[in-house]
Amino acid sequence: MIVFELICGDRHRFEGWFASAGDFERQKRRGLLSCPVCNDSSIEKLLTAKIGRTEAEAPAEKKQPAAPPTLPEKLRDMIDAILLNTEDVGREFPEEARRIHRKEAPERSIRGVATGEETHDLLDEGIAVMPLPIPPREDWH
Ligand SMILES: [Zn+2]
Repeated sequence: MIVFELICGDRHRFEGWFASAGDFERQKRRGLLSCPVCNDSSIEKLLTAKIGRTEAEAPAEKKQPAAPPTLPEKLRDMIDAILLNTEDVGREFPEEARRIHRKEAPERSIRGVATGEETHDLLDEGIAVMPLPIPPREDWH
């Protein structure tokens, strides 16, 4: 998202949110933009623009997948739910995931240990695996 500072013919300033710079032009051409104060539709954008939170237009090389140092509570809840609803197959995980994928083993949700390379291979084979940002521990049931 991009936030533009907009200004109407009567010099009222307000903010508009747009998917992209082109989105502003399209909405303006179709007369969809109007001043919230006086309803004037001759809207211009000021030169300041802020990039919103979605980073949709951020350059790809700046995106770095970094795990947060502490897990947000929602994520912990999600992980708890996964742990309660999956069968721990430990180091057998990559093989068991393949067996389930080939329907050689009963279909169920499993969790276990896989190296980054094994995870990558499974994804390549079209097997849905989701890395969890938690270290394996021995005391999970
Ligand atoms: Zn106005």
